Amino acid sequence: MRTTRRRFLAGLAAAPAVAAVGPSARAQETGGARHSSFDPWIEIHREHLRQNVQQIQQRVGSRPILAVIKNNGYGLGVANVARLLEPLDAVPAVAVVKLHEAVTLRDAGFRKPVLLMGPFDDKDLEEAVARDILPMVYTPIGATLDRIAAARQKPVPLHVCVDTGIGRVGVPHVQAPALLRDLAARRSVDIRGVMMTFTEHAEFDKEQLQRFQTLCGSLEREGIKLGRKHAASTYALFQHPDAFLDMVRPGMAVYGVYPEAPFRASGAMDLRPAVSLKTRVAYVKQLRRGDSAGYERAYVAARDVWVATLPSGHTDGVPRVAAKGARVRIGGALYPIIASVSASHCIVEIGPEPRVEIGDVATIFDWTEGSRPEDVSAACGVSVYDLTMHLNPLLPRRIV
Ligand SMILES: *Cc1c(COP(=O)(O)O)cnc(C)c1O
Repeated sequence: MRTTRRRFLAGLAAAPAVAAVGPSARAQETGGARHSSFDPWIEIHREHLRQNVQQIQQRVGSRPILAVIKNNGYGLGVANVARLLEPLDAVPAVAVVKLHEAVTLRDAGFRKPVLLMGPFDDKDLEEAVARDILPMVYTPIGATLDRIAAARQKPVPLHVCVDTGIGRVGVPHVQAPALLRDLAARRSVDIRGVMMTFTEHAEFDKEQLQRFQTLCGSLEREGIKLGRKHAASTYALFQHPDAFLDMVRPGMAVYGVYPEAPFRASGAMDLRPAVSLKTRVAYVKQLRRGDSAGYERAYVAARDVWVATLPSGHTDGVPRVAAKGARVRIGGALYPIIASVSASHCIVEIGPEPRVEIGDVATIFDWTEGSRPEDVSAACGVSVYDLTMHLNPLLPRRIV
């Protein structure tokens, strides 16, 4: 429905215009901040999340899904995502990278296991264990674990991270047997899982998986219990069915976004983006031929043209490079972002007629064809991970 300026203003008097998204539209995780109805906002599609989990579950033959909800739940809000995933049996646990996110989940009342895939010091570890957060371990911290386990009179459940070639965190695979034997021998330790991360290099991934399976196989033959072995992020869900192992560990697929275009075409899973970025047209004006727009006159009108200003910029999550081809949907039509994206504004080219009005909803991305996050990121040449993970955490998030 088109909102005329008059109708829009009348609506404003009754209720904030953005409240039109439904009864669950109360601000989530915004600390009660006061937002203008023109401010950009993020919508989280409950049903799409559920459907994506279902698609993943079908793909992996009902293996458990350790949902990665790091980096503010890929932009959706870490507590929002946790709350929506918690009732799903297919997701027995979640993983984050930063301790504060793990603690946020516990503070929000999330009860399922949380794997902390990031670093911690001894004091952090005590706090994490006390709050039922499972650490991901890859250094010889057996003595610390002994002390913590003695104090709580229970072993510490944990996962061990093995580096099979990514060169990031994780015990190097050749040193992994020694560490795993040491941990397994301690009564203070309960190894719940062993994990690795692929480099997502088509050939080398095979070598990595081989290293991991050789390692796990030989330790298991010694009688060491490794818990659930897991390796598969979203990339592997599409590329490496042989790496689904005992559990999968996707992030992006849960949010309904394909990391690479061929995955979308493959038909392996029907994923629906569960996140939208929206705002409202703040201003509409006509530029005369030769007038400019944006800092450094990044755009000069070749002919008389109408443009609209959106009160959303790179601080909100609109990529700085969006003018390289990203398009915004207003009233069902797609319009290009032009000039340069500034911190809090961007400008779209409407054409020879003033077809939009102040107050119209402008969709920067959502789940519809042509406006998906993948469409926007491809159009302006950024990774789709940069798009959702760079959404400003302070923007209001509404579950629809
Ligand atoms: C982020 C992350 C994942 C999930 O990656 P996606 O590509 O979003 O599926 C899995 N494992 C680890 C260790 C990660 O850091």
